[in-house]
Amino acid sequence: MTELTDFQRKISALLPDLELCFQEPMSRHTSFRIGGGAEVMAFPKTREELARLLKTSALLDCKPAILGAGTNVLAPDEGIRGLVICLKDCLEGMEIISPGRLRVMAGVTMARAAVFAANRGLSGLEFAHGIPGTVGGGIYMNAGAYGSEIRDVAEQVEVMDALGNTRWLSREEMGFSYRHSRLEDRGGIVICADFQLTAREPEEIKARMKELIGKRTASQPLDLPSAGSAFKRPHGGYAAALIEQGGLKGFRVGGAAISEKHAGFAVNLGGATAEDMRQLLQIVSDRVWEQSGIRLEPEIRIW
Ligand SMILES: Cc1cc2nc3c(=O)[nH]c(=O)nc-3n(C[C@H](O)[C@H](O)[C@H](O)COP(=O)(O)OP(=O)(O)OC[C@H]3O[C@@H](n4cnc5c(N)ncnc54)[C@H](O)[C@@H]3O)c2cc1C
Repeated sequence: MTELTDFQRKISALLPDLELCFQEPMSRHTSFRIGGGAEVMAFPKTREELARLLKTSALLDCKPAILGAGTNVLAPDEGIRGLVICLKDCLEGMEIISPGRLRVMAGVTMARAAVFAANRGLSGLEFAHGIPGTVGGGIYMNAGAYGSEIRDVAEQVEVMDALGNTRWLSREEMGFSYRHSRLEDRGGIVICADFQLTAREPEEIKARMKELIGKRTASQPLDLPSAGSAFKRPHGGYAAALIEQGGLKGFRVGGAAISEKHAGFAVNLGGATAEDMRQLLQIVSDRVWEQSGIRLEPEIRIW
């Protein structure tokens, strides 16, 4: 058995009752199935546990990384020093707090939130049903699909700072823009969010969700590990169209490739490393730049 690091020893001594894993492979927690060991991965079950974790990690001079479902993260091959806090299936629960208003904890998947809303005749989250991340990740990213985004329905968000203090931020204060929120610039962890939804027949909502899932299944390589769209939509075009025009469909670096089914997706064909994926994204971005003068920026968060 390998010896514990100084950080692992200290954090487990300070938080003996918390669920902690040492050298936990990031590949088990990312949809790319890529990434080396996290020195410590923590799974806080309540906001109080999360606050204690944050205070302890500040005490140990460590800035933790926050992980939702890992569906938009490329984690490094060499692993991550310090602490990764995983919130998927941890901060759990959702409830209707007043007519049309749904409160959802950050660790709930967007699919579950959408189904919960649909069953209660609440419309607005249909677009989020096929996005495989958590509500926390969706808020952070201002996730969107098929003409709708989280900011259309998120009324307010409860955010925790690095010392465990929480406050509510309005939609305006969240500074949402395309695949971006203020959390990316100023930090803060999503604890929960209130969604303002509209009344509609459950059957109509479910029919729309089914239609959107059908579109995804028909066009996206859902049988291979990916992190969704590899690049943000650039001004003046669509990433997938530019990549396809550049003859880059199927282009490969090691085990990483541009999907044959959808040129906007980078996929892990098996055994891809983070370095393969990083190089693939760089080469594709450079080639598209040379051919079109449009620079593609990754939508994937490269850790
Ligand atoms: C097959 C597939 C299809 C996809 N389709 C879409 C799509 O249609 N539209 C779309 O927008 N995205 C799509 N994605 C990408 C991804 O699902 C979304 O970006 C999603 O919102 C990420 O959520 P997550 O919980 O997985 O976040 P993660 O990938 O775990 O994290 C993403 C970022 O959010 C931060 N974060 C996560 N949780 C929190 C929190 N509670 N508080 C603060 N920061 C946090 C992380 O630190 C990280 O920087 C797709 C991905 C896949 C694999």
